Amino acid sequence: MSKLPIKKASFAASLSQSKAVKQIKINHTIGAEAEPMPRVKDYQSGKKHLHIQEKRGDIFHDCSSMHDDYICCNVKVLATVSNCPYECSYCFLQNYLTDSTLSVIGDIDAIVTEVKQKVAKEPWRLFRIGTWELGDSVALESLSGTTSELVEAVADIDNVLIELRTKSDDVASLLNLNHKGRTVVSWTVNPQEVVKREEYRTASIAERIAAMKTIVDAGYPVALHFDPMIHYPDWREGYRELLEQLFAVIPPERLTWVSIGSLRFNPEMKKIMESNYPGSHATRAEMVLGDDGKVRYIKPLRVEMYQFLYELLQRYAPEAYVYLCMERWDVWQKVLGWQPESTQHNDFLMAENLYQRFPELMSAPPLRELYESSDNL
Ligand code: SF4
Repeated sequence: MSKLPIKKASFAASLSQSKAVKQIKINHTIGAEAEPMPRVKDYQSGKKHLHIQEKRGDIFHDCSSMHDDYICCNVKVLATVSNCPYECSYCFLQNYLTDSTLSVIGDIDAIVTEVKQKVAKEPWRLFRIGTWELGDSVALESLSGTTSELVEAVADIDNVLIELRTKSDDVASLLNLNHKGRTVVSWTVNPQEVVKREEYRTASIAERIAAMKTIVDAGYPVALHFDPMIHYPDWREGYRELLEQLFAVIPPERLTWVSIGSLRFNPEMKKIMESNYPGSHATRAEMVLGDDGKVRYIKPLRVEMYQFLYELLQRYAPEAYVYLCMERWDVWQKVLGWQPESTQHNDFLMAENLYQRFPELMSAPPLRELYESSDNL
């Protein structure tokens, strides 16, 4: 078994640079042959050691949130990271991972080979591909360097747009890359009051916004995820201020898409959240069980919160594509005043919006009939 293409020196050098993960010890023995990666069962213990591992099997697939009862965005995911150095009280990983070892896949060539094989099957389509399914896309970057390699490696694939989704401000290693506009850097955001209480160890909102500025200056397109929106007594004022802060920095024409969703989790996760994060208020709200087996805020409250945010977004960035995550047709109708006809239609509309606003990303306009006849890969 060969060593992975990660240099030990880069770990040692970057350890002190990473504010968010400075308490994490790095296993300097890189490669499964020299020291097999342990299986860590305890979720929080697993966050303390980063392991770089080989790619085993396919890692490109549909987003696990896809569900027939909801209109989804049809993003694809690359499971390049598992577990996360941050500690959000609502994180589904605490109830999902059977192995909590913090790990990043190091062999970028193997990842890119799989991406090329998959996207070649539908060359007419723009694939949005996120690397955030089981962790944060950027939080470990100054330790691993793998995301930077991926950004440059996919920059020449014509029908790919990589999305790096983060709550980090540790973006220095992304700033001088030849990304060719094919990487969208996105932030999950909440008012600082929520960040402080529910998103433990993440960058503050002020730090995230400062990082956004540097990323915008480096020429990247950006995206925002108001997901999960969290209800608390001053939520209106909190989200209003948050949008003011964000759009003081983000030029609307560089904002690709915005997702909105609310707090949701499997019912059995409530006890785990309360045990792991006793200071959290996330489980205090009234919630109802949905058909997908998750509890969420009651519909009138979700609609009220979404409508409030959507109206603000329409003022700040009316051109950006706004979509709801894991919501039904009727909620779309109530909040946005329209609804896509299907997940495939939503995917097409996102591609059409991008083609109109970022024409350099596609060589021809997207065709609805192709998107709607697409098979899942
Ligand atoms: S940043 Fe995302 S993956 Fe990391 S702990 Fe928070 S919710 Fe979980």
